[in-house]
Amino acid sequence: MNQLGLPDTIQACLFDLDGVVTKTAVVHAAAWKETFDALLRDYQGAQGRPFDAADYDEYVDGRPRADGVRAFLDSRGIRLPEGEPGDPPDARTVHGVGNRKNDLLLEKIRTGGVEAYEGTLRYLEAVRAEGLRTAIVSSSANCRDVLRSVGAEHFFDVRIDGVVAAERNLPGKPRPDTFLAAARDLGVEASHAAVFEDALAGMDAGRAGGFGYVVGVDRVGQTDALYEHGADTVVRDLAELGGKQ
Ligand SMILES: [Mg+2]
Repeated sequence: MNQLGLPDTIQACLFDLDGVVTKTAVVHAAAWKETFDALLRDYQGAQGRPFDAADYDEYVDGRPRADGVRAFLDSRGIRLPEGEPGDPPDARTVHGVGNRKNDLLLEKIRTGGVEAYEGTLRYLEAVRAEGLRTAIVSSSANCRDVLRSVGAEHFFDVRIDGVVAAERNLPGKPRPDTFLAAARDLGVEASHAAVFEDALAGMDAGRAGGFGYVVGVDRVGQTDALYEHGADTVVRDLAELGGKQ
């Protein structure tokens, strides 16, 4: 292990955005809850158990928006037509529900502001100082705006986000394709890249892609689940890994 807390073979670091670099996981969870609870009330009335934190971790965290809608509604026995990406937010389609969530998210980002994790920013500085290459790998289509809003855009050599994934037709987490694309763009083998993720779907992607090291970031007390899904180590904050902090 080197002073960054990584194996010496690691040449590149691939960071998830929401929950690893920024505190947006909380904002995402709130937007999903508002969206799904309204839908559950309409479809299942008083019997509809509200969307909760376990649902967030299991079905939507880290996944592309439409995949999250499908996975959660399926778990509650609700099937909606796919619809089109441009569906209005009140459309009863997978894309309409996803757009409703995104509208709520953007409103929350605009009004509440997004914060970065200080420990992650200091770790990114240390990683750059050691000469390792870096990528941001996020399912979010708002990745660039969020990075800009916290002044962290300059830390990353490569960005594979929801926009790039759609352009290149890359399936999202838990599939490893977005992380693999980031490693390829950086010119580094997956076995020489480390993945930093807070989502269970991200751990699965790290394991499936054959990455050299997978760091689980536990912000919500799910250390055991992160290990079960393939983490090599779990920290509560990247400051724990080192990097002359
Ligand atoms: Mg995340």
